[in-house]
Amino acid sequence: ARKFFVGGNFKMNGTLSSIKDIVENLNKAQLDSNVETVIAPPALYLLLVRELAKKEIGVAAQNVFDKPNGAFTGEISVSQLKDSGIDWTILGHSERRTLLAESDETVASKTKYATDNGVSVIWCCGESLEQREAGKTLDVIAAQLAALKSKNPDWSKIVIAYEPIWAIGTGKVATTEQAQEVHASIREWLVKNVSQAVADETRILYGGSVSEKNCKDLSKEKDIDGFLVGGASLKPAFVDIINCNL
Ligand code: 13P
Repeated sequence: ARKFFVGGNFKMNGTLSSIKDIVENLNKAQLDSNVETVIAPPALYLLLVRELAKKEIGVAAQNVFDKPNGAFTGEISVSQLKDSGIDWTILGHSERRTLLAESDETVASKTKYATDNGVSVIWCCGESLEQREAGKTLDVIAAQLAALKSKNPDWSKIVIAYEPIWAIGTGKVATTEQAQEVHASIREWLVKNVSQAVADETRILYGGSVSEKNCKDLSKEKDIDGFLVGGASLKPAFVDIINCNL
């Protein structure tokens, strides 16, 4: 069975003090032991969060580079994450794809490099509103997946996050039917293009305006294996999202 997974993507938010508060709040909460919880603070706070957070909470970077240490000003390497006890990274978030021009190919290459070198990846995909309205949702996601598959990554180290761009930070959550439809088609794509075993084992998260109010219904869908939470991961209600199945 796929262990339910809840990620918290802090994005470029927080201060030393507010991030300490968030971690302390999670540390004192009773978190569902059937849920894998991973939080992704800005890079500057990774070490602090790894030091403060209780061991059952994983810590993720929000990005990582696809080269060994060297002359790459402004980047962070996979070996530096590992050296700092950081076992996860988010890659391919739509904000990086759009605002920072990361291509399907770049995201795939980074995912390959991270998984080959021992860092697990929350790999994000999803369509824009224009693409959805043009009926291209599944094509867009299939192209993102195809770029990833072409690098032959270690799928056992990948969690897929489906995040429709129109639902991110908008309060406009996908309906349970809309999310389930895309999740099922991602799983079907894995069956056809990778293997039945990978399709059965890969967690597929939903992200986009997840809250303590909508998480329970979404979690009941058969192909929704967790969430990637933005805004609500900065609030005490994040605990209620992690515990949505209790
Ligand atoms: P919100 O939960 O703020 O909509 O953000 C979702 C997201 O982008 C998580 O990566």
